[in-house]
Amino acid sequence: MEINNSNSIHTDVLCIGGGGAGITAAISARKQGAHVTLVSKGKIGNSGNTIMIGGSYSMDGESAKNYGFQKANASFNKDYLFEQIVKQSFFLSEQNLVQQYVDESPDVVYQCYQWGEQAKIKQNFFAPGGWMLSGHALGKALLQGLHETSGIETVEDTVIVDLLKSDDKISGAVGFDVYTGEPVHIHAKSVVMGTGGFQPFSVTSTNSDMIAGDGIAMAYRAGAQLADMEFMIFIPTALEPQSSKGSILPFLLYSSGIPIGTLDGEGNAIKIPKPMRKMAKGSELDKVIFNYYWSARLAQGKGTENSGLYMDFSKLAKLPGFIFNFGFKELLKYFKDFYKYGYYHSDDLFYFKKLMLEKKKMEFALCSEYSMGGIVIDEKMATRVRGLFAAGEAGSGVFGACRVADATTEMMVQGTRAGISAAEYAQKAEQPKTDEQQVNAILNKIQAPIFRAEGVNPVATIQKIHRAADQGFGSIRNEEELTAALAEIEHIKEVDLPHLCAQCKSPSYNYERLCALQAENMLTCTEAGIRAALMRRESRGFHLRSDYPQVDNDRFAVRILEEQGPDHMLMSERKPSVTRIPTPSGNEENVPEFMLRQKLKFKNASIR
Ligand SMILES: Cc1cc2nc3c(=O)[nH]c(=O)nc-3n(C[C@H](O)[C@H](O)[C@H](O)COP(=O)(O)OP(=O)(O)OC[C@H]3O[C@@H](n4cnc5c(N)ncnc54)[C@H](O)[C@@H]3O)c2cc1C
Repeated sequence: MEINNSNSIHTDVLCIGGGGAGITAAISARKQGAHVTLVSKGKIGNSGNTIMIGGSYSMDGESAKNYGFQKANASFNKDYLFEQIVKQSFFLSEQNLVQQYVDESPDVVYQCYQWGEQAKIKQNFFAPGGWMLSGHALGKALLQGLHETSGIETVEDTVIVDLLKSDDKISGAVGFDVYTGEPVHIHAKSVVMGTGGFQPFSVTSTNSDMIAGDGIAMAYRAGAQLADMEFMIFIPTALEPQSSKGSILPFLLYSSGIPIGTLDGEGNAIKIPKPMRKMAKGSELDKVIFNYYWSARLAQGKGTENSGLYMDFSKLAKLPGFIFNFGFKELLKYFKDFYKYGYYHSDDLFYFKKLMLEKKKMEFALCSEYSMGGIVIDEKMATRVRGLFAAGEAGSGVFGACRVADATTEMMVQGTRAGISAAEYAQKAEQPKTDEQQVNAILNKIQAPIFRAEGVNPVATIQKIHRAADQGFGSIRNEEELTAALAEIEHIKEVDLPHLCAQCKSPSYNYERLCALQAENMLTCTEAGIRAALMRRESRGFHLRSDYPQVDNDRFAVRILEEQGPDHMLMSERKPSVTRIPTPSGNEENVPEFMLRQKLKFKNASIR
């Protein structure tokens, strides 16, 4: 494996990731006049979680009204959006980052809307200020933007494995082409990390399987800090039918207002108190609310054999047929705008209808949809490593313990800003000299799983990580299970990771090698998440501790941070930036009490 002229790229700004964050970063950096290279493990505009959305993107209602959308709700203005994001983060938002989100979203989001119109995708406006569309449509809109911006060099199907640094500054990255196995060395003055979040669990909630926390772990190895890694959004995800395992359709059905109940594994109904149901209605706050009550039942050991619960459709079967059929037709009508008639993504809605009516209950699990944690950035999207910027789900800081506003907006707003910052940085910087030793070390790392004659199976190792995360790092946690999960992760890191061996020795599309390289990244992210979850001896947002149910504002209104030490992960904590809304003091009995006290409410752009 050799680097030569044919596999070296020289650029100013390297954007990594073919989702919304990477694409918007590439566009804005190019508009600043920089030479830009956009590299993605999957297809650009057709990989990562951007194309998985349920889905919407949005701005505040007042700005939408000013752009001429008459149905917008102007009272949902920037101040309101700011306040709600901060409160719904359970006061862990970096308020300077929220300000950037709120201030810069109207122009960026409107631009995306225009690309969508150019690309002739279907996008429907909903109050207060956003558009519903499918993930593939959003991908097409972003591609339209990319194609309208001439001069961006694009490299697909190429995995970046590690960043290069010289004199403490970013100098590029090294990776390889997944199909040919050929290495690639990119010399760059600055890098934007737009590689998405991480997802270490076995059932993947329609998450793209490329999302292994690569960028988060690469930034960590390069000296960046991570934060909020304990916070993951969990939502109801199908365990059956087998063909739809991982689909978020149960969540969409449950939150649509159709009369569906939930049962534990013993068949007992799970009641959600009226004030909380009221708060959940029409808002993504439903995710954190339902997660609380369902997880509590799981913590009592009352889940199904698969640690799941049941959606209870018995009320549907009792409805007069014409009402059920009317509701179902409405659902078909709604999805028809975005997917093939009768389908949501690849889920056959008629099959679901049959299940709902005949089987009357359906098993689901709480699975992760979004990771709030990631690389620590400032409002220019700069990390503490000179020349390294991050955006979208790879970053952290806007949503703290709970996200309700759109992550799609976050990826575009931050991507656009990161591209500008990275281009400005590159314009002032010299290209640092390459440290050949670092390049060779990365090349050796890429080759190691193929060169080893024998060792540990990488695919089985990924499954081991999943099992550890499932058992200790799921939607409700306690000291004992977290400690056991951490011990297992450390064991895999020390005993298995150094010996990962691909049985298949072909350099071209070698899935085992890919798993071996992803395993290291997944271990870093999962270790950071579990360590932070252990440190946080309270419950807050999506982090639920059955042994510490209180929300402890006096002790834990802090972000927990990780950085790479000489031989282990270093943990620290600090208060988030507060520019406008002070953090409350005192304790709340539990997460719902906190939400009621803060009078949380939110309206997302959706049919809900
Ligand atoms: C099922 C589901 C539904 C969702 N619905 C919504 C919704 O309705 N509204 C909303 O706001 N949010 C939603 N989200 C969240 C939202 O989709 C993501 O937060 C957002 O799309 C992240 O965008 P991103 O560009 O940061 O990362 P991604 O879109 O995940 O893109 C990451 C990119 O990085 C590339 N990559 C990864 N590793 C490497 C590497 N080593 N080298 C090179 N390239 C790499 C990948 O190929 C991919 O192209 C949903 C998420 C899921 C899973």
